[in-house]
Amino acid sequence: MQKLIDSFARLSGLRDRVALMGAIGRLARDVTGVRCVAVWRWEPDAAFPAWTLVNVSHDSDAGRASRITRPRLDALAVADPTWRQGDAQPHRTDPARWFYALRSASRLIGAIEVGGRERPGAAQHARLRSLVRFFDHLHALLDENECDALTGLLNRKSFDEAFARIAFDAPERGAARGLDASRDEDGLRRWSLGVIDIDHFKRINDRFGHLIGDEVLIMLAQVMRSTLRADDRIYRFGGEEFVVLLRIARAGDERIAFERLRVAVERHAFPQVGALTVSTGCTTVRADDTPADAFGRADRAVYWVKENGRNQVRSHEELFSAGAAPDASSTAVEFF
Ligand code: GH3
Ligand code: MG
Ligand code: MG
Repeated sequence: MQKLIDSFARLSGLRDRVALMGAIGRLARDVTGVRCVAVWRWEPDAAFPAWTLVNVSHDSDAGRASRITRPRLDALAVADPTWRQGDAQPHRTDPARWFYALRSASRLIGAIEVGGRERPGAAQHARLRSLVRFFDHLHALLDENECDALTGLLNRKSFDEAFARIAFDAPERGAARGLDASRDEDGLRRWSLGVIDIDHFKRINDRFGHLIGDEVLIMLAQVMRSTLRADDRIYRFGGEEFVVLLRIARAGDERIAFERLRVAVERHAFPQVGALTVSTGCTTVRADDTPADAFGRADRAVYWVKENGRNQVRSHEELFSAGAAPDASSTAVEFF
């Protein structure tokens, strides 16, 4: 009993989603006594959604347990409506194996797979279902904690942690780890950080009131979500300022994406308010960047855009490269 309570205490202190999934798998085995538990992650927003194995815990009978280390994922029919709505279903051909859906805000994000010599009994089912509910609630708390209440975008608090992971994947860092930066399989990613600031937003508030201003922020968040890709991360940093971490295949792609967003905003008809524009500054994330370094560079580019007509996308690299004007205050300098 004490061991179980300790496990729950440890689990509720976890803030990393994958670690949480792994821990719930181990706990599932402890509370049910089933021989083998595997936890799977489903990433619906990934470019190629796929099941990835988070962990497997099994008893010492490794021979039998190995059956579950190679689960046949065709059994997890993600498109199957009964799976989407229900919370558990058996393996198609092996009744001793069951899958329990893990969800976040009713979206499928993973599954616990349990297997033993015989099908789980009613008591085991009930415990697994309760565990899954516990997981869903913890996961929802993590989500809420990272989101901005008004727009539902990520909040500033969650930015630093995500940034540390991104900088670690920067191609220069990968080269230092002996990885080939040009090969995608190495998991190296180039990221661009963009700062997007609404032009003359104060006028909107002054003219239409704060509530309409808030509506505009919500709608702009929707335009950003639908224009950018699912694996791009969109943060609301301050009142009317947004930060985007954009995954790019090669340098220069970020200009295309941010320009697409700029045009989408410009063309969007905001009820009552009408047309609106944004100014965007971006920069490539470097391996040795702190969040403040990268943000500062992109912010200097925004500052330049604000001083030079607004409603444009400019990268820090193009504006301030080759020592042309390393500091933001030199906006009077001609760059082109
Ligand atoms: P610029 O083009 O130079 O960016 O001009 P701006 O008016 O957008 O920028 P400024 O920084 O002068 O004003 C930003 C305004 O955003 C001030 C404030 O009233 C408004 N604002 C900040 N947070 C919120 C919010 O949560 N809701 C609403 N409705 N307005 C906000
Ligand atoms: Mg503004
Ligand atoms: Mg601003």
